[in-house]
Amino acid sequence: MPAGDEKDRLGDKLRQAEKAREDQWARDRDQELLEKMRAKLVEPLNCPHCHKPLEPHVLSGAQFFQCPAHDGLWLERESAEKFLAQVR
Ligand SMILES: [Zn+2]
Repeated sequence: MPAGDEKDRLGDKLRQAEKAREDQWARDRDQELLEKMRAKLVEPLNCPHCHKPLEPHVLSGAQFFQCPAHDGLWLERESAEKFLAQVR
């Protein structure tokens, strides 16, 4: 059934293209949020553990600060809720 196969392949290609567009959009949005975070960050946040300055990161629209020395994270409430909503 070559006709059906062709159609499925085309459908897969379209879905992949759509996914790639969404991924690109998400990356652009994350990058934009990251720029905003950097602009907003007047004084560096320091890790309460080792006192190194935390680095801003954005993942799927949720903003967080990560310690460069270990896996410690600082989350603002809004971002914490976004993360929780994603794992729920
Ligand atoms: Zn630390």
